[in-house]
Amino acid sequence: MKILFYDTKPYDRESFEKIKPQYNDITVDFLKTDISHRTVDLAKGYDAVCVFVASDVNEHIVRKLAEYKVKLILLRCAGYNNVALAEAKKHGITVMHVPAYSPEAVAEHALALAFAVNRHIHKAYIKVRENNFSLIGLSGVNFRGKTAGIIGTGKIGAMMAKNCHGIGMKVIAYDKYHNPDLPFAEYVDLDELFRRSDLISLHCPLTEDTYHIIDLEAIEKMKNGVILVNTSRGALISTEDLIKGIRQYKFSGVGLDVYEEEMENVFENREDDILESSVTARLLSFPNVIVTSHQGFLTEEALEAICETTLQNARSFANGEPIKGNIVGRQ
Ligand code: NAD
Repeated sequence: MKILFYDTKPYDRESFEKIKPQYNDITVDFLKTDISHRTVDLAKGYDAVCVFVASDVNEHIVRKLAEYKVKLILLRCAGYNNVALAEAKKHGITVMHVPAYSPEAVAEHALALAFAVNRHIHKAYIKVRENNFSLIGLSGVNFRGKTAGIIGTGKIGAMMAKNCHGIGMKVIAYDKYHNPDLPFAEYVDLDELFRRSDLISLHCPLTEDTYHIIDLEAIEKMKNGVILVNTSRGALISTEDLIKGIRQYKFSGVGLDVYEEEMENVFENREDDILESSVTARLLSFPNVIVTSHQGFLTEEALEAICETTLQNARSFANGEPIKGNIVGRQ
């Protein structure tokens, strides 16, 4: 099994090379560049390509992969909305993903964003570096005794619910399915969650139902001074409506690990660029907003789990018995 690994970052290579000795049946060649119409030709002669969450594996790319007899697309992430699955199916290309790697990693990042915006850590850090030791503008609230509203209580949402419960918050939740692992959580409808929550954290997938689940109507139902955190997918929130809400002083803080239009920026150093999107630039201009660049997953434990599952996926496919639960598109 020969794999061409696209869009390699130093942390990817380090974690893959750590466990690679256990997979001598697999050869991995690393490329810094991501897959694109210009770089797909490099996949000629490989059995599989390995791509990540921001790789654009569109129909054209899939057709090229089929022409080069690539049989497997290995996603080293959970989401697969960036792959033309129907086209892959048409050409008999199997697509495998890593359904879960470390829900704790993302949930801890969600909590970190909530803590940071609440206590203005991002502002305090800059102020003190500039010898400004004044505390004005840095007040927050105690989370203990406040209400956390968790939207989506699957693997990551459940961990976030436990985190919030652990720091003494009351936990209310909204999900079609009630997670029996969260006996302390009170399931409510969405309107009630918006009305009662001091902290709202989004952990549902992006679907037709959840697209812009946070819009102006939802924001208007929320408490004044609410904290909103999104580590799930950008389009769960209408950014234009969020900006309106921020301008109306609805939020004491907003923490975003994901946002609409993030694709151009994710994992890239764009220090010298002028951002084309005024929406992103406007979001970054607010003092009570912290944006991180889709780094919720980025812990050693998560990277290790991603490598392990990706190589297991490759080996199981080569042995003719691909792990069924990890297949997302197949003939
Ligand atoms: P999961 O499938 O375990 O849980 C998702 C939950 O959302 C399920 O309980 C499901 O019933 C619920 N849900 C579905 N539709 C809903 C709706 N309309 N309203 C309320 N709840 C709904 O998924 P997970 O592993 O917990 O991941 C959650 C999300 O986190 C993923 O969809 C992904 O977008 C995101 N994610 C982000 C990062 C990151 O680095 N920031 C990393 C991994 C995953």
